[in-house]
Amino acid sequence: MQVIKHINDLRKILSGKREEGLIIGFVPTMGALHQGHISLVEKAGQETDYVVVSIFVNPTQFNDKGDLERYPRDLQKDVDLLAPTACQLIFNPEADEIYPEPDTRQFDFGMLEQVMEGKFRPGHFNGVAQVVSRLFDIVQPDKAFFGQKDFQQLAIINEMVRKLKLPVEIIPCPIIREADGLAMSSRNMLLNPGQRQNSVLISATLSEATNKTTELNVEELRSWVINRINKNEYLNTEYFEIVNELTFQPVMNWNDPCMKVGCIAVQCGKTRLIDNIEFKN
Ligand code: AMP
Repeated sequence: MQVIKHINDLRKILSGKREEGLIIGFVPTMGALHQGHISLVEKAGQETDYVVVSIFVNPTQFNDKGDLERYPRDLQKDVDLLAPTACQLIFNPEADEIYPEPDTRQFDFGMLEQVMEGKFRPGHFNGVAQVVSRLFDIVQPDKAFFGQKDFQQLAIINEMVRKLKLPVEIIPCPIIREADGLAMSSRNMLLNPGQRQNSVLISATLSEATNKTTELNVEELRSWVINRINKNEYLNTEYFEIVNELTFQPVMNWNDPCMKVGCIAVQCGKTRLIDNIEFKN
């Protein structure tokens, strides 16, 4: 497994692999890796011949400077974690390699970016689209792997690929959870023991909510989830929405024939946690 910092070196290696006829798989990450990331790498290993993982904390997707500064970074630990996996190359560029000049591109994702993460983190998805389109251009993968943990991000990436007609297949991968149910996240390591213990209430409440659809209507269930979480002194819900999985518009009625997903963002001290769960009819 190689660690490459420069685009030119990466391109040379990858064009060689392409000439050998290998299918290139790509997993973009911001590092501070955990088993959620590793599950994407293993899936890429099953579906492609040569797996590239990028580790790059992208400044343009952070609307909160403090969040960017606090974001955990440990390259050596990431390298050690990836060594026994299907990953064959780590791309770990500096910011000026990705952005030799400021990226001024403005993407328009319409309604998709006006709700939930888009609404509460203005500019976040524009930054995500900037970095992922740039990374796709550099790596030119056949398939790229994204986690459903970031459910709205996955929809944004699909829309970007459709709009720009990029020749890459996007493969969604399921959420990986800790033993107690908390969705794995690089940010979990920022939680103190009390916060960590109480944060389990997020996934536990979502899971319980899926059993309450005969008892409560959509609006009642939304309130039930928010109240249950906010009663905990460590947690403060930023939003909980039950939306149509394709349009991301709020679901009004359990009888709506669409696929429904409940998406939540919760502030736990200074750390912001997100999770989601599917509501089956
Ligand atoms: P990040 O490093 O947070 O930008 O995440 C990189 C990729 O890993 C994204 O596609 C995430 O959706 C995915 N990912 C992060 N956490 C998880 C998880 N718990 N389960 C599955 N995928 C995840």
